[in-house]
This record gives sequence, structure tokens and C-alpha cells, in this order.
Amino acid sequence: LMTSIVYPTTNLKHVEQLNIVRGEGVYVYDDSGKEYLEGLAGLWCASLGYGNAELIEAIASQLRTLSYSHMFGGRTHNVVIQLAEQLNEMLPVKNSKIFFANSGSEANDSHVKMLRYYFNVTGEPQKKKIIALERSYHGVTVASAALTGLPANHTHFDLPVGALGVLRADSPHYYRGRKAGESEGQFCDRIIENLEKLILKEDPETIAAFIAEPVGGASGVVVAPDNYFPRVENLLTKHDIMMWSDEVICGFGRTGNNFGCETMGFTPKLISLAKQLSSAYLPISASVIPNYMHEAMIEPSSKVGVFGHGYTYTGHPAACAAALKTLEIYQRDKLFEHAADMGEYLQNKLNEFKNHPLVGEVRGRGLIGAVELVANKETGEAFCDLAVGAHAKQACQDNGLLVRAVGGNSIAFCPPLIINTDQIDEMIDKFDQAIQQTHQYAQKEGLLAN
Ligand code: PLP
Repeated sequence: LMTSIVYPTTNLKHVEQLNIVRGEGVYVYDDSGKEYLEGLAGLWCASLGYGNAELIEAIASQLRTLSYSHMFGGRTHNVVIQLAEQLNEMLPVKNSKIFFANSGSEANDSHVKMLRYYFNVTGEPQKKKIIALERSYHGVTVASAALTGLPANHTHFDLPVGALGVLRADSPHYYRGRKAGESEGQFCDRIIENLEKLILKEDPETIAAFIAEPVGGASGVVVAPDNYFPRVENLLTKHDIMMWSDEVICGFGRTGNNFGCETMGFTPKLISLAKQLSSAYLPISASVIPNYMHEAMIEPSSKVGVFGHGYTYTGHPAACAAALKTLEIYQRDKLFEHAADMGEYLQNKLNEFKNHPLVGEVRGRGLIGAVELVANKETGEAFCDLAVGAHAKQACQDNGLLVRAVGGNSIAFCPPLIINTDQIDEMIDKFDQAIQQTHQYAQKEGLLAN
């Protein structure tokens, strides 16, 4: 039975595997009534869980008052103004300006365009290249997909990587990127050196920005060595390159602090926000830029007649109302503190899997984590394909836990921020059963090195 849908990020031979019909709290239910704990908050986004009555009411009420208004040609409305003010108070960068869109991909695309615009109008038209990390994920629109460093998002798409000046730097993942005998400190030294070599080879005058996720999500929950980001920041400051934090997953309490850049120890100039900005009740994203970038674009836009970038749904009133209420709930219910506490609890529980024969590495920060399954625990050798991760994901699902296998064979956890300790225990128990089944499968299939 195939409908007329082109499925997103799906093996097109295996569509329509699971039909979810409703959700409540941290649980969702399929069309047979089976209950699942949402271990990944949907796609790392449903922070307040499902069926939040306050959010639903805030959205419905906004739809009754003003269901839509655009923002072209100087039009505005109160909800988007309030949202921008509220965000500005929370952001780790003061004096920012905020451009709204509908998805993380669009937020990143908008940043790419604003960077190009800014350097064109400030007399540095050669300063356009952007450094992005191997295996990073920044979305799938043409420009953001070019920033993304995952092969599946590039293969057959002919992305304009060269035209956009996208440069690739090492993934800061010690476990996967280390050379034989290399310590984590030596690994970090080496990739920082590589980064500086890249900058010098390309010429810093031609590089606009460096983009990274504070903790990589789709790349397999990559956690950089402790001093990696502060060292990157120093390097970028030295060469006058803007640091751009893609906080689409890490923003809003996910990593144990308000924003991921705080957890990883750097202060960005550009920030991308989406997902937990509205707890996924409605699509909304934001590109945060420093005030001076906005200032520089005012006169030139006036000469052209408009700043020629904007979406039909930029600042959609209902999406803004969802975001505003989400931020209010975060603060009122001290949910970032709660997430930090739950995060510590989760990381401790995940760390108990370190000794399992199938597990190579356990990693994470706050309420985002992953367990990497490997063929050889001694050497860290990966499986040659994705079968084991897929098996583990399916075993979790059969046990009533929704997770994803990412970055090869890593099982990722990123539950709603509202999760409690009993629910984390339930998640871990279900995963524990799944990993035993997966281990038996890998043994039976002869996939293990030992
Ligand atoms: N950036 C990061 C870090 C993401 O994880 C994602 C989506 O998963 C995106 C950008 C793209 O967001 P969207 O899927 O809303 O376009």
C-alpha cells in the first residue's frame, strides 16, 4: 500500500512503516493503539511533549484574533515584536537582530544570504567562504545542504558546494577521528592545527564564517573535546572570521545550559534557532545576527528599494504565539534547570552501557546522548553497514521506544525536556532489552570481530 507521498529522509523502498495517530506528554500512539515513549522528542524538537493544553490554547486564541499577517513592506504585529524582545533577553549574545523563518534549513539559508549581503555592502565582497564540519547537519535546502557534511544529503543532489565557498574542517569527534595511539589532547591539537592551515591556505580575508553545532545531532551526537570550541573561537577572532552556532537542536536547555554554546564554552556572533523554539507545535525558526550587520544593511537596502529576502510566513502570528508561550513555560516552570537535572540522570544511566560488549562509546551532554554500537570494542572498528543500528532502532520500537540510529550505528536519545526520572528509567529499560536482542542478532550474523 503506497500513498502518493514522497517521503523525507527515508529509504524509499521502506516507506509507511509506522503510523502515529496521537500523543500525550512524552508518549505517542500508533494506529493499533500501541504506546511509545518518544526518546528523540520527534526530531529533537518536541520539548514540552504532546498535547500541552496551554500551548494549544495560545495558538487557538491567536488564530481567532489574527490568523495571519505578513511582514513585507514594513508591516508588523504585536506577537512577533514580543517574541523578538523575549528572545533577545534570553540569548547569549546581546544587541542582536532576529530574522524569522519556518525551519532550521531556512534559518541557515538566511544566514548565508545575509553574510553575503553584509560583506558585499561593507566592501569585502571576497569574504564569502564558510567553514563547516565533516558530518555536520545544517539542513537540506540548497545552501544549508551544502553546509551539511553528511554524504546521504549530498549524493545525487549536485549541491553548489564550490559556488557557495563551503570549506570542510575535521569533525571534532575523538573516538571516530583519532589516529592510532593519539590522546584526546593530541587529537584536538591536530584538528585545530588543520583548521588554522585551512584558514591560512584559503586566506582569512576570503572566509566569512565558521558554522558548527555545539553538540552534533544527526552526525551521531558528536561531543567535541572540552577545549576545542574555545580554541576555535580564539583562532576565528585572530583571523576575523565570524563564529556561527547552529543551535537548532542545542538551543533552549537541551545540553544542560540555556544554549549549547554555553555548554561548549564559546560566544557566537551568529545563531540559528528552530525546533524547541516553539516546542514543535508550529514551524518557526530564527536567524540571529549582530546589530552591526543589520545597521550595515539599512542604507544599501534603501537604495535597492527593499531588503529582498523574506518568506510569506516570516513571523507567522500563530507560530510566534506558540514560540512566545513556549518560552514563557520554559521560564515559569524552570524547565532548563529541570532538563539539566534530568540530563545528569540520563548521562549516568547511559554510561552504564559503556561495559556492554556491543558498545564502543557513550557520549552526550544534558538531555542529548548516544550509544555507539561497534564491531570491535577493543579497536573501535565500526560495522561495515547500517544493519546493526537499524536492528537496534527496530528492537527499541518493538519494545515501545522511539529512537533513531544516527551517524552510522549510534542510537540517539533526546527526549522531551519535561521527561521525569521514572520515564528515563523506562526508556533505559526498553533500550537495555533492545541492546541484548541486538547483540544476539550481531553474534548470530557473525558481525562481531571477537
Ligand atoms: N540544523 C540542525 C543542527 C538540525 O539538527 C536541523 C534539523 O534536524 C536543521 C538545522 C534543519 O532544520 P529543519 O529540518 O527544520 O530545516
